Amino acid sequence: ERPVSMPSTRKPIVIGNWKMNGTRESLGEIEALNAGLIKAPAAADVMVCPPATLLSEALTAASTGPATIGAQDCHAEASGAHTGDISAEMIADLGGSGVIVGHSERRQNHGETDAVVAAKARAVWRAGLIAIVCIGETEAERDAGDTLSVLARQIAGSVPEGATAERTILAYEPVWAIGTGRTPTEAEIEDTHGALRKELERHFGAQAMGMRILYGGSVKPGNAAAILPLGDVDGALVGGASLKVADFRPIIDAA
Ligand code: PEP
Repeated sequence: ERPVSMPSTRKPIVIGNWKMNGTRESLGEIEALNAGLIKAPAAADVMVCPPATLLSEALTAASTGPATIGAQDCHAEASGAHTGDISAEMIADLGGSGVIVGHSERRQNHGETDAVVAAKARAVWRAGLIAIVCIGETEAERDAGDTLSVLARQIAGSVPEGATAERTILAYEPVWAIGTGRTPTEAEIEDTHGALRKELERHFGAQAMGMRILYGGSVKPGNAAAILPLGDVDGALVGGASLKVADFRPIIDAA
């Protein structure tokens, strides 16, 4: 069997997902993050995904530093009668770099199917941005021993044909690990990420070697140094611990 992992070709990325948190007061965190990254550059790429209300000002706040700004969701269409939605083109118009699609909270709370997530990923690419596609098993699926089959189904359904390393990031987030303080063991994370790499290779061939696979779910300063160096872990998607630079920066430095 040929090797599936070539870590040296993938630059890690740590992405902060602020979820429905943050007001203009929080923009100081982005400024402080960037000031710190200028003073002491990180080995990893950094992206912050604030709520849509802050995207414009976050982009201004981040304009002088290395951290990029992304969005948490988008509609699949470029424009139209979709009250309350925003399109990937609108995010690109502001200068955003990427869009998270298929987060488990969207799948659960808004009924997003794999097909919806794939349509959103295609929209992100259409707008010239990076799609951060989230997958992950529920606790019941894990307990039933279905983790890998669920993840394979989600990759097949949510990551569209034509995925390339430049415009696609896969985020593996066990649903039961998000916001709970629980995580899989290091061996489980490494095994799962290795399996995900093989699955990506099956669909996308050589592109899979350059695609970054992020772990997400209760990554904190206290466990980042154990999780981020694991094989086939190319960074992290961070929720709660991304809200404050004091927590987020040590995670970035572990990547
Ligand atoms: C997330 O929502 O993407 C996430 C990983 O959350 P947390 O880090 O808070 O578990």
